[in-house]
Amino acid sequence: MKTFHKSHKLDNVCYDIRGPVMDEANRMIARGETILKLNIGNPAPFGFRAPDEVIDAMQSNLTATEGYSDSKGLLSARQAIADYCVNVKHIEGVTPDDIYTGNGASELITMSMQGLLDNGDEVLVPAPDYPLWTASVTLAGGTAVHYICDECADWYPDLDDIRSKITPRTKGIVIINPNNPTGALYPRELLEEIAQIARENGLIIYSDEIYDRLVMDGLEHTSISSLAPDVFSITFNGLSKSHLIAGYRCGWMTLCGEKSHVKGYIEGLNLLSSMRLCSNVPAQSLVPTALKNAYTTKELLVPGGRIYEQREFIYNAINDIPGMSAVKPKAAFYIFPKMDMRKFNITDDEKFVLDFLKEKKILLTHGGGFHWETPDHFRIVYLPQLDQLQQAAEGLRDFLATYRQA
Ligand code: PLP
Repeated sequence: MKTFHKSHKLDNVCYDIRGPVMDEANRMIARGETILKLNIGNPAPFGFRAPDEVIDAMQSNLTATEGYSDSKGLLSARQAIADYCVNVKHIEGVTPDDIYTGNGASELITMSMQGLLDNGDEVLVPAPDYPLWTASVTLAGGTAVHYICDECADWYPDLDDIRSKITPRTKGIVIINPNNPTGALYPRELLEEIAQIARENGLIIYSDEIYDRLVMDGLEHTSISSLAPDVFSITFNGLSKSHLIAGYRCGWMTLCGEKSHVKGYIEGLNLLSSMRLCSNVPAQSLVPTALKNAYTTKELLVPGGRIYEQREFIYNAINDIPGMSAVKPKAAFYIFPKMDMRKFNITDDEKFVLDFLKEKKILLTHGGGFHWETPDHFRIVYLPQLDQLQQAAEGLRDFLATYRQA
């Protein structure tokens, strides 16, 4: 019989977030075991509910959104997004024509790379990264060149490392701000320096800002696109996280800044956008309501709010475990702790996560899944309630008291 393999296009696509750990977790679940999942940034299973008016907006628009929309999205949605970009994010000159809605930001991340890259082109991607970026660059035939984000500097991108990795084939630079998996939020001065590097080297900036409304400690998110109107940039955003509706698949990308030299690229994006007809139209229809109420999650992010208190707890608990440390996240709902490799004799972070899963029934993601090369990190999603986070922290403390890799 004819056998079928995955396409060679996927040969170098590495999306480690699936793999042996997830396989084991699925086997355990199939056996009826209960697992505490700290591995995926999906708010709904942890009791976070979308704002009522957002649900109402989608429900009341269901009949009117049965058909395809314009391939970029409903004008009402794109106008609301353009207004958000101009009035809230201070990005000059954005119009509905610059916006593409997508089935989550994910679809558009892939589309932006498919439209740009020829075989062998390079894109600078952070390490650690949200792995879809590396996978999308690779699937599009490009090479993801990882630049280091420095844990000793609040996980900010290392500018010298970025500069040293630019070659004549480099077409773009990706930043993830606020960051998954580190929870870092980049200050304006740093963004200005990244913009300057892009300017000097003719790079397109790809700024993943999906967590821009999940910022704590009185800080504010700055969009790099607001700082560099002379540079072409694309921002990525959506409602999965800020409005706790990851399952509705509602995201968008915005083309910002100088466009005279990227007309051909935009033509390619329009073509790719038309090929998928349009994104989920009922989800688009709630965007104006959602963005009018852009601050619905604010109460979760201040003292007394769930995300804030859970962040405080996990940050303190991790730093309290001998041999572990973590930088305090400023945004999103992830923490990326470091293990003392010598103390635990760790040489394989994926094995650590697998061993921990088997013994404690708690699911983490190993640092390698985020293209972090040294096997000394893992990511915790701190969305679960405090009692579950307490269980996780106690599990880690107990496990690491004796764990040593052979
Ligand atoms: N970008 C980052 C940094 C993410 O963490 C995620 C999801 O976790 C996405 C993009 C994808 O978001 P969406 O649900 O809009 O596809």
